[in-house]
Amino acid sequence: VDEVTLPPLFDAHVHLRDGRMLEIVAPYTDRCCSRCVIMPNTQPPLDTPLRLVSYRQAVAHSLTRTQPLYTFKISLEQTQHLNWLSQFQSLGAIAGKLYPEGVTTNSAHTGISRDVLLSLDRQTNPLRPLLAEMERLGLVLCLHGELPGEFCLDRESAFLEVVDELLALFPSLRIVLEHITTVDAVRYVTSHAAKDDRLACTLTLHHLLLTLDHVVGDALDPHSFCKPVAKAPEDREALVRLALADFSQVFLGSDSAPHLCSSKEHQGCAGIFSAPVLVERLVQFFEEYDALALLPDFAVRRAEHFYRLPSLDLPPLVLVRRPFLVPETIQGIRPFGAGETLPWTLHQE
Ligand SMILES: [Zn+2]
Repeated sequence: VDEVTLPPLFDAHVHLRDGRMLEIVAPYTDRCCSRCVIMPNTQPPLDTPLRLVSYRQAVAHSLTRTQPLYTFKISLEQTQHLNWLSQFQSLGAIAGKLYPEGVTTNSAHTGISRDVLLSLDRQTNPLRPLLAEMERLGLVLCLHGELPGEFCLDRESAFLEVVDELLALFPSLRIVLEHITTVDAVRYVTSHAAKDDRLACTLTLHHLLLTLDHVVGDALDPHSFCKPVAKAPEDREALVRLALADFSQVFLGSDSAPHLCSSKEHQGCAGIFSAPVLVERLVQFFEEYDALALLPDFAVRRAEHFYRLPSLDLPPLVLVRRPFLVPETIQGIRPFGAGETLPWTLHQE
């Protein structure tokens, strides 16, 4: 085949940032997505209704085609303002994002410590009223699933017991375990989700392609560094098998997370800016496994289903087999696969 058509993507996890960065990066999501779930770890974070109000205005200026779906950043302060949760919802938030303290970009000072996460069984746990209200409102809980205090490569596996507790305590709360990276998480999701349709997970593009060797195997490559960090070859292989499986509770969340090159090279910020190559590289990946027919389910339909949103009747994306040279930088940000030539080009009007 020399031409592929597919519905515009549902990116269930993207960082559009704010300010100037938002203006630079949003067009890359806008060109290929029907919807996107926007993460709330801006600075300041989207953790009060007022902040979400002004962020919505900024996003509305930057996205012309993609329907933005908002999230709020869960904070312990919200326990004192449970009415905020319905306000978030009326402002277009479909989910709350839980960041354990210190595990990724802008996640310091959330108050959601290891102790809080490991004591959910106690009535006095400060997260419980908040999660109960999210459950009541039908807001989805999106999890950055890494347990603080563990060795970095073990944090995701150690977090799975927290997921167990959450599923048991909140019987109608829907949960997305975001950007999973390990064999353990794949096993957990496939075994639990098969019997419980409240649990889903997202996969990024870059975790299907990278292992820890890309980050530190040869010379240190800050541009391949993200959280959770890419793991062992057998972990990546398990993620690939999951992406290619006909399994309704796994879908695309790119976790495209731009930083200026200077921040990545000097401060070691975590995050990979994949939006500029997202659809091209996904088509390449699924074609390599002779699985293009599965791509609309993985990258669009299952997320619509999980988030209970109707399919949109939009003109399809058209990709043609023509070399696409990924730029080295885009206004000071290095895209995923910079400098590579990819086989598929998105046809744009
Ligand atoms: Zn993320």
